Amino acid sequence: SDIAPKYKRILLKLSGEALMGADAYGINRQTISEIVAEVKSVVDLGVQVGVVIGGGNIFRGVAPAATGMDRAQADYMGMLATVMNALALQDAMKTIGMPTRVQSALNIEQVVEPYIRGRAIRGLEQGRTIIFAGGTGNPFFTTDTAAALRGAEIGAEIVLKATKVDGIYSADPKKDPHATRYDRISFNEVMMKNLAVMDATAFALCRDQKLPINVFSIFKPGALKRVVMGENEGTLVYC
Ligand code: UDP
Repeated sequence: SDIAPKYKRILLKLSGEALMGADAYGINRQTISEIVAEVKSVVDLGVQVGVVIGGGNIFRGVAPAATGMDRAQADYMGMLATVMNALALQDAMKTIGMPTRVQSALNIEQVVEPYIRGRAIRGLEQGRTIIFAGGTGNPFFTTDTAAALRGAEIGAEIVLKATKVDGIYSADPKKDPHATRYDRISFNEVMMKNLAVMDATAFALCRDQKLPINVFSIFKPGALKRVVMGENEGTLVYC
């Protein structure tokens, strides 16, 4: 088609749990290949894509707090989990011919390049998908915050938060049959209504940087492409 994408550069946040598919843990091969095919469909439009990958399918730092594990220690384990997911994602992308780079906020030099902003931007300009691993590199943060941070750093026009749910609802759709999905909602309204979009740190960073967020389902075929084309898909959080 001759209609241009709405965005030239995006930051896609993929949760670790997205990679599990129907499994209880880890990485589902079929699921990951479906997800990378969705990403390829927008790269093929000429859109520059940065990906922040989560780690919740392998390790979540807050859960061990209950078992008495030191929070910061657990969080470093969570960040390492994102590195494993990043490598799996890169492998799946390579398989379908996508040029990629993994850059990590934690230095693990035999395995991944360090995060270097200028290099990431150059890679994007060359059409490479850049996978950002290691979250922010700091405990007490999340990969949602890493997505807001990297999104702002690379000059992405929007953060796309890929989830299992197809947008932001007025209430939890699993609990409340009257819950309705917002097509668009402002940052202020999200705060006033106390809706969960991203964690508070990530949300505040996006709001301060006037970086819109689009929440959508990664399991809905073609949804990512529709968001990138500027179609109404999921929920857009605007300034
Ligand atoms: N984490 C962290 N700092 C960061 C990003 C992640 O400490 O900047 C840790 C934290 O323990 C978190 C885990 O890594 O629970 C996995 O990240 P996240 O929960 O954001 O993954 P997702 O829910 O997206 O799969």
